[in-house]
Amino acid sequence: MHIVASQNKIAAESYDYIIAGGGLAGCLLAERLSADGTKSVLMIEAGRSDYDNIKIRIPAGILRLFRSVYDWQHETSGEKGCNGRNVFLQRGKVLGGSSCTNVCLHMRGSAQDYNDWQVPGWSAADVLPYFKKSQDDQTGRSPEFHGTGGEWVMDEVKYQNPLSATFLKVGETYGLGTNDDFNNWSRPQTGVGRYQVSEKKGERCSGATAFLSKASKRKNLVVQAGAMVRNIDFDDSKTATGITYDLMGDDTCTKFKASLKEGGEVIVCSGAIASPQLLMCSGIGPAEHLEEHGITVVSDVPGVGENLQDHPAAVVSFKTPKKGVSVTSQLRLFGFTNPIPVLKWLLFKTGLLTSTGCDHGGFVCTAASDGQPDLQVRFLAAKALGPDGMTTFTQFRHTKILEDGYSFQSVAARAKSCGRIRLASSNIHTKPIIDGGYLSDPSDLATLREGIKLGRQLGQQDGWGEYKGEEVYPGPDVQTDEEIDEYIKNTLHTANALTGTCKMGCGDDAVVGPDLRVRGVNGVRVIDSSVIPRIPGGQTGTPTVMIAERAAAFLLNPELEPQPPAVVPVVDEVISAPPAEATTVSEEVTADEPQETVSEVIEAAVEEEAEPEPENEVVEEEEEIQTTEA
Ligand SMILES: Cc1cc2nc3c(=O)[nH]c(=O)nc-3n(C[C@H](O)[C@H](O)[C@H](O)COP(=O)(O)OP(=O)(O)OC[C@H]3O[C@@H](n4cnc5c(N)ncnc54)[C@H](O)[C@@H]3O)c2cc1C
Repeated sequence: MHIVASQNKIAAESYDYIIAGGGLAGCLLAERLSADGTKSVLMIEAGRSDYDNIKIRIPAGILRLFRSVYDWQHETSGEKGCNGRNVFLQRGKVLGGSSCTNVCLHMRGSAQDYNDWQVPGWSAADVLPYFKKSQDDQTGRSPEFHGTGGEWVMDEVKYQNPLSATFLKVGETYGLGTNDDFNNWSRPQTGVGRYQVSEKKGERCSGATAFLSKASKRKNLVVQAGAMVRNIDFDDSKTATGITYDLMGDDTCTKFKASLKEGGEVIVCSGAIASPQLLMCSGIGPAEHLEEHGITVVSDVPGVGENLQDHPAAVVSFKTPKKGVSVTSQLRLFGFTNPIPVLKWLLFKTGLLTSTGCDHGGFVCTAASDGQPDLQVRFLAAKALGPDGMTTFTQFRHTKILEDGYSFQSVAARAKSCGRIRLASSNIHTKPIIDGGYLSDPSDLATLREGIKLGRQLGQQDGWGEYKGEEVYPGPDVQTDEEIDEYIKNTLHTANALTGTCKMGCGDDAVVGPDLRVRGVNGVRVIDSSVIPRIPGGQTGTPTVMIAERAAAFLLNPELEPQPPAVVPVVDEVISAPPAEATTVSEEVTADEPQETVSEVIEAAVEEEAEPEPENEVVEEEEEIQTTEA
């Protein structure tokens, strides 16, 4: 290790951009901002550098990532809505962040989700070109809504379990409708289908493999893994001058400095838990709370850490009498790892290991919906090891013999409950206090209750044929609405979509404006999942890629920067899919053809916002990326 040498080198330089957090958003920004060779970029990542570890590369390797060295292992603190339980929150701690430890679903949510943000410059029409810009659609879906040639690959999983195929038939027969592209905004999101995934040729596509590896030989990009940003440094005019960081596991607790060039910016990309924590440790947040922890207030921003949103989930699980059919039992042979799927993946990058387990499912409007689908169903071709879905992921590797079965994870896809993140200490190494706020809005409980009922109904259909089995969770003792509600409260878990804690917007509760600059200071932006003002109805990784892509465009070309308007504009209705029926068993919905103006709007936006060709192409044959790890 060359810790001291590399820290001296970092201290001797100054940078145009310092990126705090090398996760999904950080990796994209590191690539884009260093691409033309004119800007110097330093990225500091607290986690490890080995994003190419085989457990990360194999999608099914996720079973070994929960509660591992790649996981921050957060948990919430006594959820009021969940009978005082703590809810476990996995978060990636490695270059690539949570995109290295997630379940790879490639999902945007609906056009209406973005129009509902009501943030100038971030409507569906504004953001669609950026979704497409980073995308590499390997499936040949509608070019109106999908891009090719980008780095963020979208593909089909190269494996389908017979139980998953049966689920699709059962769901369709039951009346849920079908959907072969959940990212096509010209049709409703409802229906069951195969989810697309962020995988490249059967391997996980993470922020690090997609974006960072591309920049690996650039001399103007320095990446320091295994280092924790403690705080942002400011001068008397509240202008960022750089950061203070330390090395993870360094017993001497030495603090190091990295400096910005004049006019440079610190870009906070530490994710929905750590970004507000880092702002607060830097003196940006609710003044009273900062003072309680002896932190000098640089900017009183009450919204920092508020507005925490997530997708809460609950499980219905069945046994099947058919032996050896579930993905879990196929992964085992006499209680040990089955070498056949491993060989299949190593030789051909196909088979069972290309699946993270929950790549079939659908969206449903339950009776609790207010227009958009409120329920996402994720189907798993496995019996749950416990009623809390996260337990199955963590316990799998410790369980030798697994019973066969199938499960439905009900997810409140547009949950309305909000929690908050607060400091436990001014020391960045002390985990913050997380109040998930789960079920604080009663409509989320109503959605999950409908989800449990729907999962039960689906699981009992005759269409399962020889697979049809007996319900294990919630089980026969849980029948009335009250009993179902108690089951949900006692087993609720996260579907891993933490967002919102550095809210983007124009109101007093916003932490960043539409240009993602932090209120009350100069030279700091937050660009990651924490700026999402309202959780989209779908997984949050691809929206985070879009946010970083859009931000990179205006960082490099300030003319593209969204401006706060005098008045909030009328919601763009051009690309909103027609609302779906509010019922669990919906009729077949015929999608409206997209209006012609959609493509015109998008094409015009893409042309207008296309970046100029870089003048100075980086010389790539020289030094490797300067990546060090403490
Ligand atoms: C288990 C799981 C399953 C998921 N499934 C899906 C899915 O199927 N599809 C999908 O689209 N999304 C999914 N997500 C969500 C998606 O991965 C995240 O929304 C996305 O990664 C957020 O990107 P980010 O850049 O905001 O944060 P992250 O990717 O989490 O990156 C933040 C980075 O900052 C680093 N960091 C934190 N604090 C500091 C500090 N002080 N100094 C330096 N570095 C720091 C962290 O180590 C991390 O690498 C899942 C997430 C999890 C955890």
